[in-house]
Amino acid sequence: MSHNPPDIADTFGRPLKSLRLSVTDRCNLRCKYCMPEEEYAWLPRDNVLTFEEMAAVTGYFTDLGVDKVRLTGGEPLLRRDLPRLVRLLFQNRKITDLALTTNGILLGDQAQDLFDAGVHRITISIDTLRPERFRALTRRDEHARVLEGIQTVRQVGFTGLKLDTVAIRGFNDDELPDLIEFGKGHRAEVRFIEYMDVGGATDWSMDQVLSRAAILEALGRRYGQIAPVEEVSSAPAQRFLLPDGTSFGIIPSTTTPFCSTCDRSRVTADGMWYLCLYAKDGTDLRQPLRSGVSPDSIRELIRSVWQGRKDRGAEERKALGQAGVREARLIEVKKLREDPHLEMHARGG
Ligand code: SAM
Repeated sequence: MSHNPPDIADTFGRPLKSLRLSVTDRCNLRCKYCMPEEEYAWLPRDNVLTFEEMAAVTGYFTDLGVDKVRLTGGEPLLRRDLPRLVRLLFQNRKITDLALTTNGILLGDQAQDLFDAGVHRITISIDTLRPERFRALTRRDEHARVLEGIQTVRQVGFTGLKLDTVAIRGFNDDELPDLIEFGKGHRAEVRFIEYMDVGGATDWSMDQVLSRAAILEALGRRYGQIAPVEEVSSAPAQRFLLPDGTSFGIIPSTTTPFCSTCDRSRVTADGMWYLCLYAKDGTDLRQPLRSGVSPDSIRELIRSVWQGRKDRGAEERKALGQAGVREARLIEVKKLREDPHLEMHARGG
């Protein structure tokens, strides 16, 4: 008889529900807000979990209540034979939502296999519709392939496509309506993400953050009255409706953090578990996994760490901003080199 696993809650009563599994720290773009350098200290290859290890770790989490799993990276499609991992995860019936976040470049080749393997939903990151801006932001000439990837995802039959855009003042703030129209044309919901001062975003400054309020104002100027969607959700995006019924989302992590409902945590490709995007320290799951520790003991480790969780990283960062010291407290390049786990591209966005 199947039964739902019991929820476990952290010190603020937040359940363990959503897991982001980073399958590689490598990326084929060099977005200025995430990977402003060309070269990085990469996770040692021998430490990177095999697909079987990733499926086992995911299983411990689903035994404790996780039902949403998102594959991310780095760029997850760079991990060779990713559909094989998807097939392993698809066998885990406790996962009700198996999603993937990608920059889309390799989707033209891989979307069909990922669909066949069992990915439920895809989110594609696209920050601009202009090839020259894309090149300037990402330092790669791949815009056409991203567009092709979006096209392929639809042809293959995925529904529930989301397009994620980091909204940056002075970069793409004049493109918000264009992106909404592009989303409509592809039956995709566009979500604008506030630029975050995460590890790796060493060029971040508050004046580049296009706030939720500024995004709503810009879209209101173009479309008229915008209405919030009334829904109870632990999803990071707040959803809104345009007068014609088109929905879009805003993920206001910088100005309006959602720490109080955050039910997500992250496992890096080498098996480090982080309770918050901003956390400085994590829990090593690779070591117990590889040294033959019993599944029960690993589940117990996860349970006790989650039950002690106090993280409210984005709220704490916001408080630093109010104290006027946020920029000064960005993680320095030297520290990022010493511990690549601090990087957004290692943790997965
Ligand atoms: N490579 C995949 C992709 O492009 O979606 C997955 C990993 S990427 C780190 C996940 C998401 O994090 C992307 O949508 C990216 O735009 C977002 N991201 C990276 N750095 C960010 C920052 N400083 N502020 C806000 N979002 C960021």
